[in-house]
Amino acid sequence: MTLDETTSQSLFDRAKQVIPAGVNSPVRAFGSVGGTPPFIASASGALLTDADGHEYVDLVGSWGPMILGHANPRVVDAVREAAGRGLSFGAPQTGEVSLVEELVRRVRPLQKVRLVNSGTEATMSALRVARAATGRDVVVKFAGCYHGHVDALLAEAGSGVATFAMPGSAGVTEGTARDTIVLPYGDRDAVASLFAERGGEIAAIITEAAPANMGVVTPPEGFNAFLAETAHAAGALLITDEVLTGFRASAEGYYGIDGPTADGAGSAAGAGSADGAGSAGGAGSAAGAGSAGGPGSGPVGGSDWAPDLMTFGKVIGGGLPVGAFGGRADLMDLLAPLGPVYQAGTLSGNPLATAAGLATFAGLDDAAYARLARTSSTLQSLVADALTTAGVPHTIQTAGTLFSVFFRDQPVTSYEDAKDQDTAAFGRFFHALLEGGVYLPPSAFEAWFVSTAHDERIVDRIARALPAAARAAAQG
Ligand SMILES: *Cc1c(COP(=O)(O)O)cnc(C)c1O
Repeated sequence: MTLDETTSQSLFDRAKQVIPAGVNSPVRAFGSVGGTPPFIASASGALLTDADGHEYVDLVGSWGPMILGHANPRVVDAVREAAGRGLSFGAPQTGEVSLVEELVRRVRPLQKVRLVNSGTEATMSALRVARAATGRDVVVKFAGCYHGHVDALLAEAGSGVATFAMPGSAGVTEGTARDTIVLPYGDRDAVASLFAERGGEIAAIITEAAPANMGVVTPPEGFNAFLAETAHAAGALLITDEVLTGFRASAEGYYGIDGPTADGAGSAAGAGSADGAGSAGGAGSAAGAGSAGGPGSGPVGGSDWAPDLMTFGKVIGGGLPVGAFGGRADLMDLLAPLGPVYQAGTLSGNPLATAAGLATFAGLDDAAYARLARTSSTLQSLVADALTTAGVPHTIQTAGTLFSVFFRDQPVTSYEDAKDQDTAAFGRFFHALLEGGVYLPPSAFEAWFVSTAHDERIVDRIARALPAAARAAAQG
């Protein structure tokens, strides 16, 4: 059977007639690696099955949400059960309260949260709140950080924008672009001098808590704390985007890694809330201290810090469309109908989506995170061994249990670095792995995603496919 006789190929041909590039999100088109994307017919655990009956070990996991594996029986049962009670009410329902309580319980800076339908909506809404709260227009972002396809945030974004080497996006107005300032990631001097010059115009800094959409870039030690402090000193806000890292990098996302430690490295305003003081009423949590210009009592660049607003998506919907933004109660209470910031959604808080999210959280206990961490580090060593043996320059970087592989031998600390890698070698590696039954993200600029369903047998299958893929990468 030749490729153009396959079912995936004919589906792709059909799709291209009516859907731009045949896909509903750009990276899926395999544009940068070439070839025909397999159309997925079904998925179970760590495995995908395409329309032609090929089976792949999945290292995309729907770009993060499938942290318990595909068609996890508990999640599917919860959704089925919810579906039997009605698909959408457009009115309050129990599941959304429980899901938000779960978020607030797990993440210290969250006092109040609103649910939306995607990560894009979450960052868009968080920006609107930040601008309303500060009465300022300018937003600072970092090159290589992706925050969804929000107009104001598409400049030098990662993910598909990086995959296709686009400077930004057409169709974004000059006014919008003018209100967005893009700085090199990790560059404290650039942040400090911008604030010295224009601090009074800046509504917020938005950053991925750990960049993972240009590949994974480990934040420099204390960088997020420094951003919080710099923003607060100028009366601006810090928004950390944990759409990807949330409940993935660690149980408390990347904030669980670089936030104040639970046993109180910080002072009063810090972390007393690690064990849940931040729940329900919210007062007294780390974020509460931020109200008037931020936690002022912490040491410079110290561990005693919190973002004002945070955004989530991916894992929290367990595979159904959910996003969330939240943080300080005083900021979130600016939302209509309490306050002047309008934000809404016909399907927001959808009962199927909240059921999937809650069932996913039910499976995310300490054992699950320990398992994700083990699988992630085993895979990293296997990949490093295979690429080293084949003589392929590479660097593996991590943010908690997240990791990605850069096809260059120097560390990546910025978007400039990330773009300077051998994407052709990645393309050969990618296709050889696909041939060997392993489905990687079809771009050199993406994290690799494991799930709790990636057991030893699955890891063995990846291990068997790696040497040939590494040799293919080496054949430049
Ligand atoms: C995926 C992602 C988004 C966008 O989420 P969507 O649900 O795709 O709109 C925003 N920010 C980050 C960091 C992401 O990884």
